Amino acid sequence: MTDTSIPTTIAPQVLLVNHFKTLKLPTFAREYEKVGNECARDDVDYARYLLRLCELESIDRERRNTERRIRLAKFPVTKSLDTFDFAAIPGLNKPLVLELMRGEWIDKRENIIALGPSGVGKTHVALALGLAACQKGMSVSFTTAAALVHELMEARDEKRLRTLQKQLTNVKLLIIDELGYVPFTAVGAELLFEVFSRRYEHAATLVTSNLPFDEWTSVLGSERLTVALLDRLTHHAHILEMNGESYRLTASKKRQKQTVQTKSIEKEDARPI
Ligand code: ADP
Ligand code: MG
Repeated sequence: MTDTSIPTTIAPQVLLVNHFKTLKLPTFAREYEKVGNECARDDVDYARYLLRLCELESIDRERRNTERRIRLAKFPVTKSLDTFDFAAIPGLNKPLVLELMRGEWIDKRENIIALGPSGVGKTHVALALGLAACQKGMSVSFTTAAALVHELMEARDEKRLRTLQKQLTNVKLLIIDELGYVPFTAVGAELLFEVFSRRYEHAATLVTSNLPFDEWTSVLGSERLTVALLDRLTHHAHILEMNGESYRLTASKKRQKQTVQTKSIEKEDARPI
């Protein structure tokens, strides 16, 4: 017969913390004494005591998981719509962006293509959508088109292309930023095409580009490949037209104007009366 009694030499607190560790319940370990004291003070029964601990653990676990997904997504910075000024880009379909923040398009394996010149907030919106997806429990990966192609070429040379392709296929949301700035070699374009092809109707992809569709051949090289890629990408896609002035440029122009105005007020103030 096995002896299941608690060894009297070891304090139950030590054993408890060991069990919590093994069972991966860090919040239980941290909170059980404090919550226990509170429950004893308030005359709360055992079931409710346990319930409180379970709720705390669940909330904490969700937060830890979200933080892990955000880390794995490799966002260059974290941005949300809280800091996005829709008034600065009136052409952008705000109701559509807000709807997309709910993340149903990702469940439906649809795509988003954000198009517009430099500085209009394409990356900002892509980051906000990526962050929202992480918070909704979805795996996300953020990269630029150039970095992705570079990574694919490197993986191919090091004979680990299959593994990378699998990872790129399975992530729930793949964000490919800045397609259009750097042209690819024929091999690079083929490898990129394969990523889109594998993800087609399998998982959601978000692409941002400074180029209108009819100029994508200039970075992908081949007309045939561009047509095939666009065919897959645009089949179930939401297009975010982001035509407007560069936010950075507008902001710096505003700052300059303010400085000039302040200087002329200062000059007027300095005039002898
Ligand atoms: P793009 O990717 O289109 O080149 P970014 O998203 O990188 O543009 O935007 C450039 C900078 O301006 C970023 O710091 C971004 O946060 C900011 N920005 C752009 N548009 C807006 C906006 N409408 N409201 C607030 N910040 C914006
Ligand atoms: Mg950008």
